[in-house]
Amino acid sequence: MATDKNPPNLVVFDHPLIAHKLSYIREAATSHRPFRALLAQIAGLMVFEVTRSFVTVNLPIQTPMETTTGRRLAGKVTLVPILRSGLAMTEGILEVMPEARVGHLGLARDEKTLKPIVYLNRLPNDLNAGPVVLVDPMLATGGSASEALTILRQHGAVDLRMICLVAAPEGVARLLHDHPDVMVYTAALDRELNDRGYIMPGLGDAGDRMYGTV
Ligand code: URA
Repeated sequence: MATDKNPPNLVVFDHPLIAHKLSYIREAATSHRPFRALLAQIAGLMVFEVTRSFVTVNLPIQTPMETTTGRRLAGKVTLVPILRSGLAMTEGILEVMPEARVGHLGLARDEKTLKPIVYLNRLPNDLNAGPVVLVDPMLATGGSASEALTILRQHGAVDLRMICLVAAPEGVARLLHDHPDVMVYTAALDRELNDRGYIMPGLGDAGDRMYGTV
């Protein structure tokens, strides 16, 4: 699949604090505890931009001084981490958006075919009630993310976006092809995939790095 230097479905964060934290995450010497903490912190920093298009409603509120107009989120926000590596980013998002609901999708990658296998699907039954954020730190081939977005649509989600930490051009192109209306937010767009489907330079297996199972 052809890749685009400036894909229209991609927002790459260009922020010194995020770049600083990401450089620690990438380092092979960083162990699981700081890895998880940094991943959560970066996700928390990314929330501000990822939620920018969330719809709000105006409503009257009473301050101690007078009545004024406030804005509140219009719908129910749902975060959907792909297990297991989406969990730490989700914790970071929940720090800033604790009212969000969390649906879980378990998608494993078949190491031979690199195709996703669904082993857990636990989602709210009204995914059309507001924005849905798919959470997976590594957008590699895009196979799992594309499958997850298809499942979310089948469960009624209409307002979809994805947050990741590192994206490969191949995964971004796959999502642009399969789900052109879904914006992808990433802390970095890396060079390429290697022949085992790993992102280069990447950070290795995010799930293993996160939970110390390397
Ligand atoms: N999943 C990972 O955890 N790392 C990669 O580089 C690709 C997919």
